[in-house]
Amino acid sequence: MERKELIEKIDRAVEELSDELVDFAIRLFSIPTQNPPGNNYPEFAKEFASEMEKIGMEVEFCEVPEDRLAELVPHCAKLVPDVEPFIKPRINIIGYMGDKNARPNIHFTGHYDVVPEGTGWSTDPYGCEIRDGNIYARGSGDQKAGLVSEVMAAYALKKAGIKLNGTMICSASADEESGGQAGVGYMVEQGYLTKESTDYCVITECLDYDKVCIGHRGTLWMDVNVKGIQCHGSQPGEGLSPIIWIQKLLNYIDQDIRPLITEPTPLPVMPPTSRWTTFTPTMIESGQKVNSVAETGKISFDIRLIPEHSIEWAKNLMISCCEKVKADMPGSDYSIEYYEEDNPTLVPRDQKLVDVFMDGVRDITGNEPMITVSPGMDDQKYVVQRGKLENCILYGPGRLTLAHKSDEYQNIEEMKASAKIMALGACDMLGIVE
Ligand SMILES: [Zn+2]
Repeated sequence: MERKELIEKIDRAVEELSDELVDFAIRLFSIPTQNPPGNNYPEFAKEFASEMEKIGMEVEFCEVPEDRLAELVPHCAKLVPDVEPFIKPRINIIGYMGDKNARPNIHFTGHYDVVPEGTGWSTDPYGCEIRDGNIYARGSGDQKAGLVSEVMAAYALKKAGIKLNGTMICSASADEESGGQAGVGYMVEQGYLTKESTDYCVITECLDYDKVCIGHRGTLWMDVNVKGIQCHGSQPGEGLSPIIWIQKLLNYIDQDIRPLITEPTPLPVMPPTSRWTTFTPTMIESGQKVNSVAETGKISFDIRLIPEHSIEWAKNLMISCCEKVKADMPGSDYSIEYYEEDNPTLVPRDQKLVDVFMDGVRDITGNEPMITVSPGMDDQKYVVQRGKLENCILYGPGRLTLAHKSDEYQNIEEMKASAKIMALGACDMLGIVE
């Protein structure tokens, strides 16, 4: 089949599915799957599975067993420490268009949990009001729209009578917003998204319908717990102030670390203001009374790393600053708690999967596509770092700048364009049976 004819067929099929696409989107967007705590996952799993079954896909569930919930959903285990067990189910849903074991395959996966709606909405966050071609809902762009596009892409291929020379897989995962251990992390562990089981992976995150993303920055979250000596506020010389300790630490960070992070990465991290490594203090706690120097204090850091820097590198720099403060204030001590540590991820720009989606964007939208690297972190880390699958990119319809904001919305036409690009991408990667 000529490429022009293939594009026309896909285009027509998605256009004919417009009403069903909007209906499917509203069904998914209206289920409040807030995480934490992980609300309504079984309802969502049922809805998502039934749509895939309707279009002839074989569906299976990859659910985290009860005895591993505390380990894989630690943020919820902490929420209700006295109620045991009280972690809601974590379910991932996988659908196959074609023979489950056939190769090559292409696996589209996106997360279905959403961040809590917060305040400041002008409409019901799960009401799915449509205004000017946009559907308003928490989690619409980030990133249930990607799930709509991936399933509609499979549906469109079926409707157009295009048979892939391989298998298209669509999945929806839990818990990305809290780190993804029970979602894509668990799917990788169970062998669903590894080099052995998968040829190509497209994560349908909200990174704009005309951009192709090849990596993300690293993340290190840490608390520095400081131990000083308590004393009366009128006789500070008798004690050791944890607040002064923290002040000195911040000074050493300015002196020793800041000069090392002035160079931006040449990689296209979007937005451009995120092209640096950052050491950001985000929380400080100490003291209970105005006339007492407290014994303890705590400062938290959100460290983001460009692909040129590693978690080990950042940890060593922080430890060396802490050691300097400790030496300056004999009798004080500190301990560090790390609770999120993910190295940056970057896959090769020169691979067919990237070129194919760049071509798809060009052919379907007429826009010149852009390669990006995500400022945050996402599930790509599991697939690439643990699953060892380098053929893994991110492409999806949601707009990054609307994620987690009030009045989040998803443009319907961009969701349709993405469905077309995904369908075309599957054809280009796997080939079609003529
Ligand atoms: Zn997301």
